[in-house]
Amino acid sequence: MSDKIIYKDGKLVVPDKPVILYIEGDGIGVDITPAMIEIIDAGVEKEYGQGRKIEWKEILAGEKAFKQLGLYLPDETPKLIEEYRVAIKGPLTTPIGGGFRSINVTLRQVLDLYACIRPVSYIKGVPSPMKEPEKLDVVIFRENTEDVYAGIEFPAGSPEANSIIELLKTMKKNVTPGASIGIKPMSKQGSERLIRMAIRYAISHNRKSVTLVHKGNIMKYTEGYFKTWGYELAAREFGDVTVTEDAVGEGARSEGKVIIKDRIADSMFQQLLLRPDEYDVLATPNLNGDYLSDAAAAQVGGLGMAPGGNLRDDVALFEATHGTAPKYAGQDKVNPGSILLSALMMLEHIGWEEAANRIKYAIGKAILDKKVTYDLARQIGNVEPLKTSEFAKAIISNL
Ligand code: NAP
Repeated sequence: MSDKIIYKDGKLVVPDKPVILYIEGDGIGVDITPAMIEIIDAGVEKEYGQGRKIEWKEILAGEKAFKQLGLYLPDETPKLIEEYRVAIKGPLTTPIGGGFRSINVTLRQVLDLYACIRPVSYIKGVPSPMKEPEKLDVVIFRENTEDVYAGIEFPAGSPEANSIIELLKTMKKNVTPGASIGIKPMSKQGSERLIRMAIRYAISHNRKSVTLVHKGNIMKYTEGYFKTWGYELAAREFGDVTVTEDAVGEGARSEGKVIIKDRIADSMFQQLLLRPDEYDVLATPNLNGDYLSDAAAAQVGGLGMAPGGNLRDDVALFEATHGTAPKYAGQDKVNPGSILLSALMMLEHIGWEEAANRIKYAIGKAILDKKVTYDLARQIGNVEPLKTSEFAKAIISNL
């Protein structure tokens, strides 16, 4: 019998036949989402036989929701995600025209999914601009609700901008008259919950370090405090299982402990290129994480294969990180890699790592055999591209 996933005493309780929600997605959603479901079902069955099975339940958002219900995001959709705890989505179009906010951003905000998680690691055979792309294996935890996402801006010359400039004058802060004004709030609780999730992940996944990525040398009380709050939290809540890089430098023992370190954001970009194997879990405020996630994904072959998830403690929404690629919609052509790897994150999230690993191997083998969709075929060169459905069959045959 299928059943709901529940959250009890700080943990997910996952039945053997859990209901998992999916949003098909607009554009190429019709191609990649069914392929993902077919592969996941085959992998789960191969691993667990009849013992475990996902009961997929479709929920509506985007153009499909608009056609059926006249709304791009029905109220019921976030409510169901909250109720069922785990969901996965294809890409959604941001409707063009006044008054529409991105459905993706709305879902994150309505559900307070405060962490955007992007694992970035190399799959052998994927074309990459790096000499040794396999050296990069990081998981980026990006704060999803504050910083520039909660930014307040006023245009140059507006009464609001001018009155803030006047107010600042009374605090002995001079701003060029007529300047545009932007404010980015970052709170202790907002930073701490993100960093806490990153440290917990590092501990439970036997990761070596958590790096706090910030621009605190310039923005002392936002980015700088993100770093300070992070170190304080690690010492206060995880003091017995973490140790700082500085303490290790002074001779502290680090065996079995997660090392907490920090890097200034610009240096972090260099480090990921020059010394990628020294980094593991990264925790970053919103804007740094935005840049860093895509730059890191490029090192291992680009966004086409980059998975992602948006989480809070008790709810997770996994997603394809690319858009709806409307010109390819319904052509059975594009790469389902991003939503598929996001589904593997989802399997790990519910504790079905064995199935995730089996499917990961099968994807890797298909790519090594050059059985790939057009985007990878074009980069590898001299390879006949497979359709989305053929790529799915190739993966399933490797299970
Ligand atoms: P896009 O849909 O990501 O497509 C840009 C290009 O990326 C495509 O033309 C294609 O490149 C490549 N691509 C994307 N997905 C691919 C896949 N699965 N397999 C192979 N190649 C893939 O970006 P966009 O054209 O800027 O955005 C289109 C719509 O998507 C917009 O409405 C935007 O708002 C929305 N969007 C949604 C999300 C989301 O839901 N998370 C994210 C981003 C954008 P080639 O043309 O070179 O083959």
